[in-house]
Amino acid sequence: MVMDKSLSAEWTRIRGRLRAEYGEAAYRSWLKPLTLCGYSDNRVKLSAPTRFMRDWVDSQYGDRLSRLWKGEIEEIEGVDLILEGGMPSAPAAFQVQVAAKTAAGAGSGAGNDIGAPLDPRFTFANFIVGKPNELAFAAARRVAEASAVPFNPLFLYGGVGLGKTHLMHAIAWQIRETRPDRRVIYLSAEKFMYQFIRALRYKDTMAFKEQFRSVDVLMIDDVQFIAGKDNTQEEFFHTFNALVDQNHQVIISADKSPNDLEGMEERMKSRLGWGLVADIHPTTYELRLGIMQAKAEQLEVPIPQKVLEFLAHKITSNIRELEGALNRIGAYAKLVGRPVTLENTQDVLHDILRANDRRVTIEEIQKRVAEHYNIRLSEMYSARRARAVARPRQVAMYLAKQLTARSLPEIGRKFGGRDHTTVMHAVRKVDELRSTDRGFAEDIELLRRMLEN
Ligand code: ADP
Ligand code: MG
Repeated sequence: MVMDKSLSAEWTRIRGRLRAEYGEAAYRSWLKPLTLCGYSDNRVKLSAPTRFMRDWVDSQYGDRLSRLWKGEIEEIEGVDLILEGGMPSAPAAFQVQVAAKTAAGAGSGAGNDIGAPLDPRFTFANFIVGKPNELAFAAARRVAEASAVPFNPLFLYGGVGLGKTHLMHAIAWQIRETRPDRRVIYLSAEKFMYQFIRALRYKDTMAFKEQFRSVDVLMIDDVQFIAGKDNTQEEFFHTFNALVDQNHQVIISADKSPNDLEGMEERMKSRLGWGLVADIHPTTYELRLGIMQAKAEQLEVPIPQKVLEFLAHKITSNIRELEGALNRIGAYAKLVGRPVTLENTQDVLHDILRANDRRVTIEEIQKRVAEHYNIRLSEMYSARRARAVARPRQVAMYLAKQLTARSLPEIGRKFGGRDHTTVMHAVRKVDELRSTDRGFAEDIELLRRMLEN
């Protein structure tokens, strides 16, 4: 097996993607324990510490893993999941953990904890309302307060880290407080599926069905997870229908609207859209600042308004990241015992700030540049050297170097498998032209600004 050094950079990136896509819990249980162990015959080898994990990861994440690897390196044809073999010592710690988990799981049996625990911070009181989330918030409040089911289901959707899980937990907290007699279950679609598969395995599907069909309020988070998983989807469909037919409240969240959920059956999509569909839009500056101010008050160190404004301005991706930045700054100030300033904020958060600066992908750059110079996108990968296509290609390589964190060889690969020296040459050439040709320099500046927005 060859272990190309650069593969670990790709693996780090893929892990970041997986974490963002599937959420922290799923990531930590299934994906983080995987080890990159090699690359041969155009296939990446990943190992899992137990047989069960290997099979589960293969069936649930296998396709996504392959696609992500292909996205990184075109030649890759797929991913092989293997069992971490012949190393009894290394995974010991992990085995203990798994054993503990299984024991707890088995003990729960038909009990109450088919749901997942609620985060005590995720309440309505802690939720800051702004334009992007006002509809979702109002709908969630309504469901939590209503004595009769107001709309069924409530379908919340929006991008990562925008508050879907927070709102669902808030509903659950409120109902628990005001109507303790009602049985409220919150769980991720992944956990739903996991339990379903376990029930199938232990031939216990009757108990599984009954458990879910007897709840008053069922919340399933991140339902996109079961798109394409036919058996689970089927089971979910029946559970869903049974509850809605009995007029029990169902609340669903997803990263896309019902219609846009790929791999979801038509009848399912249509039923998901029957009640109220509320989307959470990307954050605005005002909302970000509001959230920062509220969260800053809970920190032990004062954060100057200027710093809050700076962060709300700079970190635009999502609220989770914004929170993370604020916590890091707070922890830093406490640790070194120095007041927070704009300057040390920039220092402490340089990696987060840079990641937010550079969200552009090479594909976007290629597309924009091709449009700008009115050439075909395929010329970005073609071998043609005519000036009319070679120059735009160089510009795109230059921008890829400036705006992404990719290395020269990585960039070369994305441009039809060119050598890193070609990319280096392009970067130099464009730099040179920029300093001698004003029109050209302005052109590049314009492209850069378009791509950064
Ligand atoms: P999602 O489920 O949409 O990916 P989460 O609900 O997990 O996002 O939210 C990510 C983080 O951001 C959580 O810590 C949550 O408390 C916080 N958050 C999101 N929206 C808000 C808001 N409007 N006010 C306060 N905190 C928020
Ligand atoms: Mg969530």
